[in-house]
Amino acid sequence: MTDIEMTTMYKGLVNSGWDSHITQKYVSYVNKKKWLTKKGKSAFTGRDSQMNKVYTAEFCHIDEVGTGTEYDTIPQCQQFADEVFHAGVGLKKRINVFLLPSSKKYKNVAGIAVANSPVIKLKPGHGFTQFVILHELAHQMGFMHHDVGFRKAHVMLTERFRGKKESKNLLKWYKHFKLPMTVSDKIETPEKWLERYFRLEKARVARG
Ligand SMILES: [Zn+2]
Repeated sequence: MTDIEMTTMYKGLVNSGWDSHITQKYVSYVNKKKWLTKKGKSAFTGRDSQMNKVYTAEFCHIDEVGTGTEYDTIPQCQQFADEVFHAGVGLKKRINVFLLPSSKKYKNVAGIAVANSPVIKLKPGHGFTQFVILHELAHQMGFMHHDVGFRKAHVMLTERFRGKKESKNLLKWYKHFKLPMTVSDKIETPEKWLERYFRLEKARVARG
């Protein structure tokens, strides 16, 4: 939304009797919503708020269908990552695969995708699998959080490199945990938004 559009919306509401503080909140809601729609995100928070649910869904998925091929070495993992890159499915750069050494920070992590860098790091064992490599490559398609954009990319890569049966299974578990697969671009009207705002405020006050 341009500054002019925002100002026009703000003035319109204040002129119709809206409190200026609340109007500002509504305008910022509209602005954020437009930004989220563009980015393929469903959550307002800067935190990766859906990470744990995604992990749980993926554990259930793996439990049923396994992790795909398990590799013994980094070069083998690199070869699979290169295969994905050369398939032209949306990775803009070749991704370099490195070893993720055991450390306290990454204790329960099988792999990581490095932000703003064409690098993924994998732990021997759990991390040297097609499942984890596809998960990290989905991050490298521009979705560092585990939001809608990431999940769509992960399902797409799974279908392409593990087959339709497995991608359907992954989707089934995402849905089971009520993880949305599309971003609603519906923007609430000022009246609807205000209703929700007061409801939330009331709840906040009640909580103390
Ligand atoms: Zn992840």
